[in-house]
Order: sequence, then C-alpha cells, then structure tokens
Amino acid sequence: MATTTTAIGTTRLPDSLCTHTPNCPTASSADREAAHTIAAHPEQGWSLLCNGVLLFDDTGDLLPDGQVIAPHRPLAATA
Ligand SMILES: [Zn+2]
Repeated sequence: MATTTTAIGTTRLPDSLCTHTPNCPTASSADREAAHTIAAHPEQGWSLLCNGVLLFDDTGDLLPDGQVIAPHRPLAATA
C-alpha cells in the first residue's frame, strides 16, 4: 500500500492567500480592507483580497468564514 500520510480531514481553505511582505491584515483585522486585491471583478461588483475577504462595491465584506460585514462607507455622491 502507498503511504497514507496525507492529512485528509484537515483540508480547509486557507484563511489567507497573502504572499506579501509584511503580511497584509488578516480577515479578522479591522484593517482587512487594506489587503491587496488579487482578483477584481468590477462588472460583478466585487473584489477578492489576498486575506480571503470578498469586498463588494457597496463596501460590504464577506469574510472567509462566511461572516458578512454590512456596508460601512457612504457611497460616492452621484454628480
Ligand atoms: Zn497580501
């Protein structure tokens, strides 16, 4: 039999995809939105930050653990 050292059962999405130095704020940090954007989909209204946070156009966030942060910044006033 092949060696079975693979740690199946502990598989989970990484909390952070951050490869920056110094590391960006974690998703649980109040500064979470200061992390770098690693995937931007403005046509869909969201961006993925390197700490795993989904940042929406309306300034709401979706954290990697599923927690939702309500929009907390005023939208830019329409001209
Ligand atoms: Zn980063």
